[in-house]
Amino acid sequence: MILIIHRGAGESGKGEIGGNCIELQSSKSRILLDYGAPLPKRNEKQDKNTLKGILNIPGLYTETTKELPLTDIIISHSHQDHYGVLLEKAVKPKIRVSRLLEDFIRISASNRYKTIPKEDKTDYFTRYVSFNAGINDEFQIYPYPMDHSAAEAFSFEIKVDGKTILYTGDFRNHGHKGDTLFKRFKERVGKADILLTEGTMMGRDDTRIKTEKELMSKIEKISANYSGHIFVLCSFQNIDLITSLIAIAKNTQRELLLGPYATLILDVMQTRMGWKSKIPSSKIPYLKILPLREEFKRLRIMFSKDKDYKEILDSFKPGSWDSTLSSKNKYIIPITSSYLRWIAPKIKSFKDSILVYSMWEGYLEDPKFYEIIEYFEEKGVAKTNLHVSGHAYIKTLKEVVDKTDPDIIIPIHTEYPEKFKELFGDKVHTVKNGEEIKS
Ligand SMILES: [Zn+2]
Ligand SMILES: [Zn+2]
Repeated sequence: MILIIHRGAGESGKGEIGGNCIELQSSKSRILLDYGAPLPKRNEKQDKNTLKGILNIPGLYTETTKELPLTDIIISHSHQDHYGVLLEKAVKPKIRVSRLLEDFIRISASNRYKTIPKEDKTDYFTRYVSFNAGINDEFQIYPYPMDHSAAEAFSFEIKVDGKTILYTGDFRNHGHKGDTLFKRFKERVGKADILLTEGTMMGRDDTRIKTEKELMSKIEKISANYSGHIFVLCSFQNIDLITSLIAIAKNTQRELLLGPYATLILDVMQTRMGWKSKIPSSKIPYLKILPLREEFKRLRIMFSKDKDYKEILDSFKPGSWDSTLSSKNKYIIPITSSYLRWIAPKIKSFKDSILVYSMWEGYLEDPKFYEIIEYFEEKGVAKTNLHVSGHAYIKTLKEVVDKTDPDIIIPIHTEYPEKFKELFGDKVHTVKNGEEIKS
């Protein structure tokens, strides 16, 4: 078995976060784990017309006769830095995702041309059900659903050529479903020859707020102290936070205003998973859908031929702006940077309101967030940063190492790979992008 990290390797001294792409070779064929877009560098110009992050891997875009066939690309979760480049240009291998993962990738696409193909190019795997990949099914893969800030995330246990590799993807155990999912993971997972683990929190482990529950109670307290609106700048894929905000709205007799894209995510989860998702549906009385014409238009065009999503979108009945903003009570409003477009003309008073910034603080340097934050500052709105990480703390990484008892630990998705050596000693191999590891 040969393992190559094409991008995202925790190379000593210059690790990077995101853009993951890992190749595994058996004696007969090759597969890829994730094909992520590298996170944009500071001050980098975004050109919509150039293909970003394309990797030159034989068999990815053209048939290869010199190398073993590249048969499958398996995606761990619905964050751009793990699937993004998949959408840049049609790939040859089969794409392996869960049904919900495909949903999130489709819903988040910026237009209908940049999305994953439907037809026979994709194949679904299911939580806790082993599946095969490779030319003769020589890769046996077991998908563990994990807690993460994306709504659907997996770790994979892969058996090939008598070896076991555990790829953690991105994960944590301090979200709303953290305890349950991590407990189940630890109950089943066995020894791994190679542990390929994320290490985002290496060097960032000193966060103030440790769990989603803590975050929820902090925001709820703030709700009591401010009589105006509570604006929450966040990612709409952060389903734990959105669920918390819905619960806070109920507990504090406020209404929650949600855009159509965020509402679609909620209802797709409901439709696919039913009660098991523990996700409130958009039909609860204290949730109002924002009448955002542009956002509705984009989604309707994208899904005009997609029956499932179209039905959900058609069931949304937003009122007029006047009726949406008519409540005497103030609102909780999850927002994104582009929402300044309607906030500026529609929100008349910011009296006693607060802006909760609930994303990784690194994004604060992105000009698109800066603009909206500046706007709130000008309006004299109070601001607070309250965020809980989507990634495992060191304590949790130690539990994974204890449980899988790996011979080799390879850090990925980390800025501080050398910290792994301090913690786990000689078992840790920091590798370079493109380096071959034989096992
Ligand atoms: Zn990531
Ligand atoms: Zn992620």
